[in-house]
Amino acid sequence: MAPVIGLTCDGDLENRRFFLNRAYVEAVSRAGGIPLILPPGPREAAERYLDIIDGLLLTGGGDIDPVFFGQEPREGLGRVLPERDEFELTLTRRALQLGTPILALCRGMQTLNVAAGGTLYQDIAREVPGSWQHSQRKPRCYPHHTVEILSDTLLATILGPKARVNSMHHQAIREPGEGLRVSALAGDGIIEAVEGTVGSFVLGVQWHPEELFTRCPEQRQIFQHFISAADISTSCRNPGYRGRM
Ligand code: MN
Repeated sequence: MAPVIGLTCDGDLENRRFFLNRAYVEAVSRAGGIPLILPPGPREAAERYLDIIDGLLLTGGGDIDPVFFGQEPREGLGRVLPERDEFELTLTRRALQLGTPILALCRGMQTLNVAAGGTLYQDIAREVPGSWQHSQRKPRCYPHHTVEILSDTLLATILGPKARVNSMHHQAIREPGEGLRVSALAGDGIIEAVEGTVGSFVLGVQWHPEELFTRCPEQRQIFQHFISAADISTSCRNPGYRGRM
């Protein structure tokens, strides 16, 4: 049976709607997962979602309220949706405790990091002198800059020592949270990927692999590895499950 993958979504308070780019949903489906979109809700909802899902995909979106990593808002901070932050931080902390496989993309990687107690740059251009352009002004489906992948990491086994990636972020990880280590860097020193140091599959990348499949087909492997980890987690959570197929 295919693993169920919970995907967080973005929200728009003024127009009273939740939304998510199809590329995430299609990437999960193509890799063999069943996508399930998770709107923000109270703590009880986060707990129940984690009973249902076999893997958690933290998706992209706006900025994280700096109150969650101990900073005051600075010039350069963008759109913030506190309801989403609160829900996703609760969900992510619980998923880390339970060992639910996690794939965290762009803002999702920042969510993962803050949930683990790490900090962010609120705006790279203002806080990191000499930094590259990380908010690309070309279509999302084109790679924009190179990342160096550290050896002996999960990400290196998936992509090798180097990758070309798209870049739609203006925030980045400043200090990695507990239990996370850096697995890729841009040439300006910006952290482009992190992963869990122990236990189940936990991978965050600062780019959007789901948008790159045509021009960088190797990026599909990120989803394949995540869905495989969720699949193993399914069979562990439901002993005897394979036998019934
Ligand atoms: Mn970047």
